[in-house]
Amino acid sequence: MLNRYDAFFQALKEIPFEKGLMMQAHTSFRIGGPANALFPRNANELLHIMQAAAAHEIEPVILGNCTNILVSDKGIEEPVVFIANMLSGIEHQDTVFTVQAGTLLSTLSKETLRMGYMGLEWANGIPGAVGGGIAMNAGAYGGEIKDYLTEVTYIENGELHTVCPQSGDLSYRRSVFTAPSRVTVSAKFTLQPDDGYAAERMRDYMQRRLAKQPLQYPSAGSVFKRPQGFFAGSLIEQAGLKGAQIGGARVSELHAGFIINTGGATCADVLALIAHIQERVLAHSGVMLQPELKIIGKGV
Ligand SMILES: Cc1cc2nc3c(=O)[nH]c(=O)nc-3n(C[C@H](O)[C@H](O)[C@H](O)COP(=O)(O)OP(=O)(O)OC[C@H]3O[C@@H](n4cnc5c(N)ncnc54)[C@H](O)[C@@H]3O)c2cc1C
Repeated sequence: MLNRYDAFFQALKEIPFEKGLMMQAHTSFRIGGPANALFPRNANELLHIMQAAAAHEIEPVILGNCTNILVSDKGIEEPVVFIANMLSGIEHQDTVFTVQAGTLLSTLSKETLRMGYMGLEWANGIPGAVGGGIAMNAGAYGGEIKDYLTEVTYIENGELHTVCPQSGDLSYRRSVFTAPSRVTVSAKFTLQPDDGYAAERMRDYMQRRLAKQPLQYPSAGSVFKRPQGFFAGSLIEQAGLKGAQIGGARVSELHAGFIINTGGATCADVLALIAHIQERVLAHSGVMLQPELKIIGKGV
């Protein structure tokens, strides 16, 4: 007899599928065990997946470009749905851009600038996709997704909904448009005509990123949320943890808010280093750091 996962995949036979996909090949951390993954090619296929999930009482793991996640070495039991690059595309009418959830934030940022609009210069260099960016309310250099997001189309309980985000729906690294309950399909962003300095701002932000982030190593960006009134990186540095290492996971010497994979780091290494940082920073400054990245998979 088919178990419910087999029955779910059987109902989705026409959608590209890979069994035992090693997540380490897809996560920006280069960490993570096997998963059974679906690759919807359009919004209809994504809707079909989510309807089948509702019918089989399955909660799939929805992934964008896998740049803010830490995946278990044992992999992921639930079906995984890959969205980045699959549901991709940008259309616009005047200042309003309709963007598919799998479009990369850097692509959106550069394309809108190329078309003569400003607002998303800060998003160039954030390696996530639009759906993940909305889920995390991604931001940098004073800009945040919520400042430009004017409409979201998402799937909830197997049905499509389109809403204008209300104040409070998105805040610092938090959003109501987040899997598993809501899966973003597309969104509208409202921008402004370029003031003539947008390209310069984009270059400046990118230079700052290149100078301050250890981009030559796999990572998931900043590991911890910014605690009110502090910077996580400074607290970690003050606790003497720059360069601290467990297995292949190390606190970056360039940016103490990043944990880097120096080669062969496991999820267990990163989790042990996160716990060590939390303990030392709490003892040193009285602040309990909370992870920003999402920890996913078997046994974590
Ligand atoms: C080198 C580096 C630099 C970074 N710099 C920044 C930065 O400056 N600012 C910043 O905010 N972040 C930064 N990040 C973190 C990361 O890129 C962002 O959080 C990004 O928005 C995550 O998008 P993603 O598509 O990779 O999401 P994933 O990592 O794939 O997923 C993250 C979360 O979003 C959910 N999700 C993904 N897609 C959808 C969808 N369509 N619908 C509903 N939920 C969804 C997932 O279930 C998961 O919970 C950085 C990461 C790296 C590696």
